[in-house]
Amino acid sequence: MNRIYLHTGANLGDRAANLQQANDWIGLEIGAIARASRVYHTKAWGITDQPDFLNQALLVLSPLGPFEVLEKIQQIERRMGRVREVKWGERIIDIDILFFNDEVLETDALTIPHPYLHYRNFVLMPLVEIAPKLVHPVFKKTITELSAASEDSLTVGVFRG
Ligand code: ADP
Ligand code: MG
Repeated sequence: MNRIYLHTGANLGDRAANLQQANDWIGLEIGAIARASRVYHTKAWGITDQPDFLNQALLVLSPLGPFEVLEKIQQIERRMGRVREVKWGERIIDIDILFFNDEVLETDALTIPHPYLHYRNFVLMPLVEIAPKLVHPVFKKTITELSAASEDSLTVGVFRG
């Protein structure tokens, strides 16, 4: 089984319900969710003039390859009603692949590890909860180390509903 770390985010509609619905689809279409972080909330990153986000990190065990997983997550995003919008703009659901085993992949459609994960507290915080000792295959640092070194100033907290 492949060990795949996913990151989900939502800042439109019933955000917590959207994350839950994404988890349900991921479990059905991609594979069993072996670990899930708590849900975190954060101000929007990049384009800041939009609603706050909820985010979660997941470890999924799946027989699918990286491009099959990409296809599935895009299918789930579409099925949940995500419409094509601005990069880093508001969305019902965003599902990103953070890590795929310890593979390193760079193509037009897919970059693994996710190229921005080490810049973003809203990714690092949930990830450190479920995978503190996971080693980034390019930087050779653990998630704990990357998180401690992050220069991102956005506050990320556990979402209390
Ligand atoms: P973003 O997540 O950066 O806000 P999108 O979700 O719209 O933007 O994704 C844009 C494109 O990023 C997708 O069409 C996909 O092909 C590409 N992509 C590259 N690497 C990854 C990755 N690791 N996980 C998810 N999408 C990726
Ligand atoms: Mg995305």
